[in-house]
Amino acid sequence: MSNITVCARFRPSNTQEKQNNDSGCIRCIDTESFIFKDEKDEEFVFSFDRVFYEKSEQADVYQFLALPIVRDVVDALNGTVITYGQTGAGKTYSMEGLGILECDEQKKGLLPRVVEGIFDSLNFEDKIYSIKLSMVEIYMEKVRDLFDLSKDNIQIKESKSRGIILPGVTEITVLDPAETLQSLSRGIANRAVGETQMNVASSRSHCIYIFTIQQEFSSDKRMRSGKLILVDLAGSEKVEKTGAEGRVLEEAKTINKSLSALGNVINSLTCGLQGKASHIPYRDSKLTRILQDALGGNARTALLCCCSPSALNAPESLSTLRFGVRAKHI
Ligand code: ADP
Ligand code: MG
Repeated sequence: MSNITVCARFRPSNTQEKQNNDSGCIRCIDTESFIFKDEKDEEFVFSFDRVFYEKSEQADVYQFLALPIVRDVVDALNGTVITYGQTGAGKTYSMEGLGILECDEQKKGLLPRVVEGIFDSLNFEDKIYSIKLSMVEIYMEKVRDLFDLSKDNIQIKESKSRGIILPGVTEITVLDPAETLQSLSRGIANRAVGETQMNVASSRSHCIYIFTIQQEFSSDKRMRSGKLILVDLAGSEKVEKTGAEGRVLEEAKTINKSLSALGNVINSLTCGLQGKASHIPYRDSKLTRILQDALGGNARTALLCCCSPSALNAPESLSTLRFGVRAKHI
């Protein structure tokens, strides 16, 4: 899998960080590298495919990270775009922007841009398309349908013809961008409702958007399909070993397990390229199992490592950046 793009993104300092005169943890070198300073003033140089600093535009993130994958998926390949990082680092801002509907053009996240990108890339001259959208959330290793909260334990199966499937999950057929955004916004609102009912914070679950684009050639009725999965991961922060107990500790362990599984899968895939025999441990978590055919094979993956610019968050940012480095190399 040479097909992984790994980027880092630093959000702007928030009001509190500005008030504290936070010295920050990064010094820009160029668009691909920076110097990172940890809490002990030790310096590390990091390089990624692209670094998005605080002034970066949502449109640039989309163009670099997601647009190539959107084009592939419309061409019947599979792809995944993942946002990773501690809570508050900018995962959801990058993925959704500030709201899905009626968002400032400038602040629109990846999702609404992906939707526009998909519909813009369709070629109706010789094909008919069917575009379907599903939204699920993984909390404590259970998969919940965000279009139908009564389906709270969706199974993951593999089908010979269709790859990984979620039997019974709601698939909404969408016909145009406006309708797709309406559906996305409904799924996101449902997520909040479900979480309030269960008393869970959205930062403790993974949110997964699945677009399936099926095409049929007018000439010979040949069918092909591509799948694009976007993932807004649960916060990667470590929970204080002493403070956490009960459910909070269980949540943290479960999240940690699935994020390590994701790291291991991506790592095995990149290692596989170096010719080593490799078993890819997709079955180690629901997350990696759902992503199996959108990460492996000839699928293309983009990972956005979201970080706070604050010196106070340096340990978590360092851990996020190292996850990104490990995903890219061996
Ligand atoms: P996460 O989803 O990783 O927990 P959020 O995306 O919710 O974090 O971001 C935390 C806060 O920072 C939000 O108020 C969000 O609007 C803001 N924010 C994050 N990234 C940016 C950015 N690049 N530009 C402006 N504001 C941002
Ligand atoms: Mg979030």
